[in-house]
Amino acid sequence: MANKVFSKDAWLEALGGLKEHYRVFLPLKDGDFFTYKPIEEAKKIHFDYDNTRLSPKGLIFPQSERMFEFSLDTQDPEANILKEAPKDDSPRAIVGVRPCDAHAVGLVRRNFDNPEYRDPWWVKHVEAATYVGLGCNAPCATCFCKSVGGGPFNEEGLDAMMVDLGDRFLVRALTEKGEEFLSRVQGGEAADEEVLKEARELAQKVTDEMPDTVPTGRLKDLPVMALFEAPFWEEVAFACLNCGTCTYLCPTCWCFDIQDEVYKTEGIRLRNWDSCMFPLFTLHGSGHNPRDQKFQRVRQRFMHKLKYYVDKYGDGVQCSGCGRCVQFCPVNIDIRRVCGLMDAYEPGA
Ligand code: SF4
Ligand code: SF4
Repeated sequence: MANKVFSKDAWLEALGGLKEHYRVFLPLKDGDFFTYKPIEEAKKIHFDYDNTRLSPKGLIFPQSERMFEFSLDTQDPEANILKEAPKDDSPRAIVGVRPCDAHAVGLVRRNFDNPEYRDPWWVKHVEAATYVGLGCNAPCATCFCKSVGGGPFNEEGLDAMMVDLGDRFLVRALTEKGEEFLSRVQGGEAADEEVLKEARELAQKVTDEMPDTVPTGRLKDLPVMALFEAPFWEEVAFACLNCGTCTYLCPTCWCFDIQDEVYKTEGIRLRNWDSCMFPLFTLHGSGHNPRDQKFQRVRQRFMHKLKYYVDKYGDGVQCSGCGRCVQFCPVNIDIRRVCGLMDAYEPGA
């Protein structure tokens, strides 16, 4: 696979030249945080962010997506017929994706693209995207990708990988999409063995130094009902505000709600991100709510990510260790601690 090394200025300039091939999205400074935005909105591009506040999930699974349109006009012969809303599936390059967020796409794929069910819009959005990663030279204190099957230079789910070598970027293609992307980037030089070795040694050093402290090894063997009835859920949930921040920021949360909105005789059917932390999430039409207590909702979030997913797929947890929920929960509920409680639980002890 091809690789190129660019001076940082040359790389930033080269990204600007990709507009005729891709809609290019980058993490751009947005107040105190970084957010993925189209390159056109960039006042200044730099790649010195820890991670974006929102993951790039919204670029393939929009927070609010128009699914269908319909007319309620009684004069319209096609009234009440759902028509698929137009979507933009032109090629997009998402540049600067941290390895945890690319790993998350693979975890979510099991829900949206599997032998029983294929979500056509999610699949088309993913197929339209080229993921260009950026290895993490300095993982945050809240990151724990290494504990959940990833790593600061993990290449899974990426089409190309950037490595920050101080005054240069090494960019390596990892897939055919990545090859195509790199062939379209103007400038740069083929990396020699010395540069490749420097990048390998950097990746190894950062990976070795990153702690691996969140235990997950017993989760699959613990009886599901024992964990469900474990005595710690009230305490874990005590401070939770049910604000939904954790689920909205999470690259591996995939729940959505479908709603119709009508203005006069024109209607649209939308799907919007939803959150299991909200009381209305499970409210039945009858008025019954099987999760009307806060601890039940908090338990659901952790049981889904750390037990139901584990049991269903037999491989990995539904968390990529990005640390966003740890960093931004207003009351410091920490999935690493909850995972530790669950993994160490001794039923009947
Ligand atoms: S971010 Fe924290 S307080 Fe808000 S719903 Fe999630 S766990 Fe609860
Ligand atoms: S559960 Fe938290 S740490 Fe894990 S992927 Fe979601 S936001 Fe990141």
